[in-house]
Amino acid sequence: MSGRLEPRELTRDLLRYNTINPPGMERACARHLGGLLEGAGFRVAYHEFADQRTSLIATIGGSSSKAPICFTGHIDTVPLGAARWSRDAFAGETDGDKIYGRGSTDMKSGIAAIVCAAVELAPHLRASPGVTLVLTAGEEIGCEGARYLADQRLLDRAGAIVVAEPTGNYPYIGHKGLAWFEVETHGVTAHGSMPELGENAIVKMAKVIGVLDEFRFPVDSHPVMGEPTMNVGTIRGGLNTNSVPDEARITVDTRTVPGIDHGHLEKSLAALLAPHGAGVRKIVDCASLYTDPGDEWIAEVFEVCAPFLDGRPAPKTITFSTDGADLKRGFGGTAPAVILGPGEPKLAHQTDEWCSMNRIEQSVDVFRTLMRRWCSA
Ligand SMILES: [Zn+2]
Repeated sequence: MSGRLEPRELTRDLLRYNTINPPGMERACARHLGGLLEGAGFRVAYHEFADQRTSLIATIGGSSSKAPICFTGHIDTVPLGAARWSRDAFAGETDGDKIYGRGSTDMKSGIAAIVCAAVELAPHLRASPGVTLVLTAGEEIGCEGARYLADQRLLDRAGAIVVAEPTGNYPYIGHKGLAWFEVETHGVTAHGSMPELGENAIVKMAKVIGVLDEFRFPVDSHPVMGEPTMNVGTIRGGLNTNSVPDEARITVDTRTVPGIDHGHLEKSLAALLAPHGAGVRKIVDCASLYTDPGDEWIAEVFEVCAPFLDGRPAPKTITFSTDGADLKRGFGGTAPAVILGPGEPKLAHQTDEWCSMNRIEQSVDVFRTLMRRWCSA
């Protein structure tokens, strides 16, 4: 490879691939990244959970005594949204320190920082515990790519995991889990002038919502994450004003803390709502992710990040969920993990999304240091 791979140039190259999910179509972008990594000496494997939905795993080095360090990011982005962009969403336009585009913050800049650090260090990593990069498809809709890699047992080992989602280079030690449920009630339709002949699904649902409003999770507040939450997000039911509705549906968003099993939560909600004639179905499921702030490697990450922040970081968790939980499970469930990347958390999924190019450079610096320390110890 001639010359250094420039993180801002690579961010721009990645922005040119339209990987809006749905439909995702990450293959071309994944192949571009895989080519760069192969050129630097990485072993690259592609895995598709559906046609053109390509994740890649790239590995260099490896030893029997110490597992590699894993860096991960997702290739897909969210749609552009209804509002008009004032910048081209796919050109990587720059203005001062900002680079604009869908995915600039969430999270093609993070992928660029990972790949630039890894390619630069590659010659020194061959005879070391090694680095594994997991670049996934389909994160934005239920972590499909990462889940596939974990379920198909395509992940080998990792001793620590860095999830390069947008955090402004602040290292977060976890996030809540997310479980979404659909709740349905059924009734019997009748003419609206004779409601006594029918059975009203909306009235049943009103009782169900009352029960959910009183629901308390059977766990203590988490010392860093706080309380689990529940929110009834949507409601739908009835066809017209002059009929008794025979169907009503709500969707419920729960955000969970470690110790709450989502399968168990589904069963308890089903048991709670069954007497009210409601059926419960889990529609989205992402586990929580948490590493104890006393972990030795977490302390090292805090130390490496401190010069780029206002002092040493405090243990905090982030509000969004990530591929990290599925990948950690796929790697055996014990690796410490941080969420740490150059994007601006407030700009994720926004119109005119941008990322600070200075932060991308800092992120390469942080990732290089973490890789070097892991591989030389
Ligand atoms: Zn993201």
